[in-house]
This record gives sequence, C-alpha cells and structure tokens, in this order.
Amino acid sequence: MISKKFPYLFLDRDGVINHRLPGQYVQSTADFKFMPGVLDAFPKLAKLTDKIVIVTNQQGVGKELMTYEQMEKVHEYMQTQIEKKGGRIDAIFSCTELASDTNNCRKPSPAMGIYAKKKFPKIDFSRSLMVGDSASDILFGEALGMKTVLMQGKEEESALQRSLKPDFKINKFSKIVDLL
Ligand SMILES: [Mg+2]
Repeated sequence: MISKKFPYLFLDRDGVINHRLPGQYVQSTADFKFMPGVLDAFPKLAKLTDKIVIVTNQQGVGKELMTYEQMEKVHEYMQTQIEKKGGRIDAIFSCTELASDTNNCRKPSPAMGIYAKKKFPKIDFSRSLMVGDSASDILFGEALGMKTVLMQGKEEESALQRSLKPDFKINKFSKIVDLL
C-alpha cells in the first residue's frame, strides 16, 4: 500500500543513510557504513512509497579528491545492500560541482529536485518528504514546496539548525516510516 500523504521520498545520503565522515568524503565502500536501522527500514519505505530518490552533494569529486567512478561504486554498493534486504532506490542524483561554482546544483539549490521531476514527471512536490541532516537539505525541500524532516545529530550545525523550521525532527532513520 502506497502512502496517501507522501508517496515521494527524497533522502540526503551522508548523515541519513550512512555515517558522515566529518571534514572528509566517503571515497570507497570501506568508508561507507550504514546508519543504524537503515537496511531494515528500507523494505517498509519501499512498500509505502512510489519513488525513493537520493539527492546528495558530493563536491569531493569536483575537488578531485575522488573520481566520479569511485562515487558510483559507493552508490552501487549502497543500492545493492538495500535491494538485498528488499528495499529500493529509484534514482540517485549527485551534485559533484563545487560550492564556489556559480549557479551550482548543490542543495539548497532546487536543481536536483527539478532533475528528479524531469525523470519522474508524476512526482508532486506537495506530496514529497525531504529528509536530511543539514540546513541545506531543509532549505532545498522548502524551495520545492516539500515537507521537510531534519535528522538530528549534525553537531557542527546545531546553532544553524535551531533557526530552521523543518516540519518534523527525528533522531533515527526508522522514524521516517511513521511519517509517510
Ligand atoms: Mg547530510
């Protein structure tokens, strides 16, 4: 049964699906560690949603600290592990541009949401939920008219997070299931 409220789920990657490496980039599958409860929650999310889309800022590629292929390997691993458990990811959008690039696609720019809507025209942002652990995720969701969910725990942004107005706050991934 697909959720009537939010059939379209947008997820940030680092700090939501996998542990963040503060000040570093996840460059290989060895660096990629799922957050608690993620693999068990995904099959439930798959049942409740029509589309699950990952939107991730990955300027480590733009900085040439890692290659696009390395990033793709990490994503293949993530997707395979999720599918093995009965979960699903419908699309992954990665912005590899630099924060210093003018008109870059990085969240909070709505660019990756617009790409997702081009790929899946039936996506309705007013029936979409955006989950992330950064201010940029919440602002991205707001810019597109989505409902927003702040995954708490990014300590270096705690002051910034206090100024945000997400629709929901959660402290673990499995709580997303209750919001759909
Ligand atoms: Mg994040």
